[in-house]
Amino acid sequence: FWQRYVPLLSSKRTKGSQEKNGASLQRLLGYMRPYILRFAAIISLVVISSLGEMAIPYYTGRMTDWIMNEEEPEAFTHAITVMSLITIMSAVSEFVCDLIYNITMSRIHTFIQGLVFKSVLNQEIAFFDTAHTGDIVSRITTDTNTMSESLSEKLSLLMWYFMRVFFLFVFMLRLSWKLSLFTALGLPVIWVIPEISGKFYQSLSVQVQESLARANDVAMETFSSMKTVRSFANEEGETRRYKQRLEDTYSLNKKEAAAYAASTWTNSLSSLALKVSILYYGGRLVTGGDVTSGDLVSFVLYELQFTSAVEVLMSYYPHVKKAIGASEKIFEYVDRKPQVPPDGSLAPQKLKGHLQFKNVTFAYPRRPDTPVLKDFSLELKPGQVTALVGPSGGGKSTCVSLLERFYQPQEGEILLDGQPLHSYQNQYLHSKIAVVSQEPVLFARSVRENIKYGRENATDDDMFEASKMANAHKFITDLPNGYNTDAGEKGGQVSGGQKQRIAIARALIGQPQILVLDDATSSLDTESEHLVHQALLKSSNRCAILMIAHRLSAVEKANHIIFLQGGEVLEEGTHAELLEKGGAYAQLVQKQNTAFQRNTGEG
Ligand code: ADP
Repeated sequence: FWQRYVPLLSSKRTKGSQEKNGASLQRLLGYMRPYILRFAAIISLVVISSLGEMAIPYYTGRMTDWIMNEEEPEAFTHAITVMSLITIMSAVSEFVCDLIYNITMSRIHTFIQGLVFKSVLNQEIAFFDTAHTGDIVSRITTDTNTMSESLSEKLSLLMWYFMRVFFLFVFMLRLSWKLSLFTALGLPVIWVIPEISGKFYQSLSVQVQESLARANDVAMETFSSMKTVRSFANEEGETRRYKQRLEDTYSLNKKEAAAYAASTWTNSLSSLALKVSILYYGGRLVTGGDVTSGDLVSFVLYELQFTSAVEVLMSYYPHVKKAIGASEKIFEYVDRKPQVPPDGSLAPQKLKGHLQFKNVTFAYPRRPDTPVLKDFSLELKPGQVTALVGPSGGGKSTCVSLLERFYQPQEGEILLDGQPLHSYQNQYLHSKIAVVSQEPVLFARSVRENIKYGRENATDDDMFEASKMANAHKFITDLPNGYNTDAGEKGGQVSGGQKQRIAIARALIGQPQILVLDDATSSLDTESEHLVHQALLKSSNRCAILMIAHRLSAVEKANHIIFLQGGEVLEEGTHAELLEKGGAYAQLVQKQNTAFQRNTGEG
C-alpha cells in the first residue's frame, strides 16, 4: 500500500534512508559521549520537571472530589501550597536543564564545524577542481547551523516532551486503564498522518538547502571576480543569474511552507477528534460508576497535556529529520577520504634537492582520457637552473602541480633524492619546495606577515634578505607604511609586479631546496626581471631552480632548457645548443625578438 500510494515511503528509499538516518543519529550521539555526565544531569532534570508537571491535574481532580464530598477547607490550602512548590521546582529544573543543554550543544556544534573544515582542507586538489566553493562553505555554515539549531532547540524539547508523555500516560493508567487504552488506540491516527507529511517536508527541506547552496555559489563567484564582472559591465547579467537561483529557492520555499503547514494542520485536526471521543466515552464511564468525577477531570487534564505533548513531539519530528538531513551532508564531507595516497614519513635532515620526473604520464581526474603529459622526463639538479618553455597548454604548469603532489601521475614516477615524492612527509616536502606562480595569492594582511608566511620563525633580517633578493626591498620601504602596509584582499592594494616580488620573497625566506618560478616574473619590466634573475642565480648554488617562462629572454642563462609541446618534450639543451639546432625553440626566439623590435620601434 505504502509503496504504491505514498512514493516517499516506498520500501527501498525508506530502508536506505532510515539506515542512513540511524547512522547519522548514532554519529551525533557519539559526539555527545564526552559530555555523558552533563547529559545524565540533563535527563535527571527533565525527569524532575516532567514529574512536577503532573501536580496541577492531580490536585485539580482531588479538589473536584473534595468539593463533591464537601471536605474541610484546610485540605485545599495544603494542596495549593504543595502544588505551587512542585510547580516552582519543575520550572527551575527546566531552566537549568535548558542552560546546560544549549551550552553543551554549542560546544558540539563548533567541534563539528572544525571537523568539516579540517577534512575539507585535507582533500586532494582535484576535489576543489570540481566542488563549488559555495557548496563547501554552505556545508560548514548553513548545514551545521541547521543541524545544531534543530538539535539544540528542538531535541531538548523533544526529550522533554517525550518524558512528559511517558509520565502522563503512567498517571492516566492509574486513573482508568479503560480510558487510557481508548486514548492509546486513537494515537496511531495522530502518529501516522504527520509521519507522511513529515517525510515530504524533509525531502523538500533538503532541496531548499541545495538550492540555497547554488545561489551562494553565484554570489561568491561574482564577488570574487568583481573586477572581471565590472570590466565586462555584466552586473545586470550576474544579478539576473543570482535572481534566477533565488527564484528557484523561493518556489521550493513555498512548497516547503505548505508542507509544514499541512503537517501541523493534520496534527491539530486529528488530536481534536480524539479529545471529543474521550469526553464522550469518559462521561459514560462516570455514569456507569467506573470512575469518579474527580478522576475524569484529572484524566481529561492529563489527556489534554498528553495529546498536546504528542502533537508537539510530532511537529518537532520534521525538525529533527531536517537536522539529520543536514548532518548527513556534513558527515559526507567529514568522512571523505582524499583520493591521493597518504604522505609518507621521510623527513631527512639533509636534502640535496635532486629531483627527477621519470617517464611520467598524467591526465587530470576530470579528463581521464586526455593525457596532459606523455612519457615526460625531467631532472633538476642542485645549483642549476632548468627552464620549461613552449606554447601555452603544453603542460608546464601541470609539471608544477605534480611536483607539489596536488595530483598523482598515472604512470612513471617522481623522485626526490632517489625516493618517491609520496614517501616524504607532506609538510616537509612543502617546506623544501617553494612555488611562485604567475598570479600569486597574497593574504589581506601586512606585507611583513605575507612574507613571513613562508617561514614561521623568520626574523626581520631574514625578511630583508629575501626581499632584497626578490628586488622588492626598495619598493616595499617606499610604501606608505613600509613592511606594515596592508596588501589588501588577495593582494589587491599592490601592483601585479609588486605582488610577484613579494611572493618571490615569501618563497625565498623559507630557504627552499627547490624553487619553482611559474612565469613568476611575467608582470615585471625586463629590467626588474633581469635584476631578480641575477639575484636568484647568485642564490642558486643553494637550490635547484625550475623556471617556467613565456618570455624566452628570461631563460637564456638557464643550464638546461626543455621545450614542451602537447605534453611531450620536443627538444632540449642549452640556449646556444637550441639556437644552433634551429628548431621550434630557435623559431620562437626569432619570433619574440621580431615582436620586441617591432614594439620598441627598432625593426
Ligand atoms: P601550460 O602551463 O603549458 O600553459 P598547463 O599545464 O596549464 O599548460 O595545461 C595543460 C593542459 O591541461 C591544458 O590543455 C589544460 O586545459 C589542461 N588543464 C590544466 N589544468 C586542468 C585541470 N585542473 N583540470 C583539467 N584539465 C586541466
